[in-house]
Amino acid sequence: MTVYFATTNPGKLREFNLIAAHHGAGLLEVLSVPGLKEIQPPEETGTTFAANAELKAVYYSTFTGGLVFADDSGLAVDALNGEPGVFSARYAGEHATDAANNARLLDVMKQEKNRRARFVCAMAVAKSGELLALFQDDVEGVLLHEPRGSNGFGYDPLFFYPPFHCTFGEAEPERKLLVSHRGKAMEKMICWILAQA
Ligand code: IMP
Repeated sequence: MTVYFATTNPGKLREFNLIAAHHGAGLLEVLSVPGLKEIQPPEETGTTFAANAELKAVYYSTFTGGLVFADDSGLAVDALNGEPGVFSARYAGEHATDAANNARLLDVMKQEKNRRARFVCAMAVAKSGELLALFQDDVEGVLLHEPRGSNGFGYDPLFFYPPFHCTFGEAEPERKLLVSHRGKAMEKMICWILAQA
């Protein structure tokens, strides 16, 4: 069965394949939505991860047949009432680099004692412009005062994950995937897709 992921990010496609392999190798093939680069992206106007994942999946599913899914994810910091949240990728401004976003977060948090934070990922599945299912998961951690590690991306070097005794920037990518917000949300979605087949 072929399913379509509304992403051109090869890392996310690889993550999906790794998890799909755990749940019945060969049963699912994932491809990027055909012609995705030429499709004008929708504006991500949602105020929640779920709303943005849903609007992307529904939109892109009108361009191709079959099941189309999309994700939205980010970092929610307790002391900042869930910020940067859906603005995680652009916390330091439109098209900000990961380094600039991390620097802004460290600055905003510099006096803050409560450093609890979680990564959240929502995944939506749609077909022919209709939402079929929505999955969400998260992972809890603690923000450090300086970055550690060069694995991963985004806020990974600041995100200390107590069970691993290291940051996600220091963890092996496959190990992170087993416990991460995206890994767990993908796993739920893959089980759902396989149950439909
Ligand atoms: P997107 O859902 O891939 O667009 O991710 C939005 C933003 O959230 C990214 O640009 C990162 O800043 C942040 N983010 C999401 N997931 C992760 C993660 O696993 N590690 C680090 N940062 C993440």
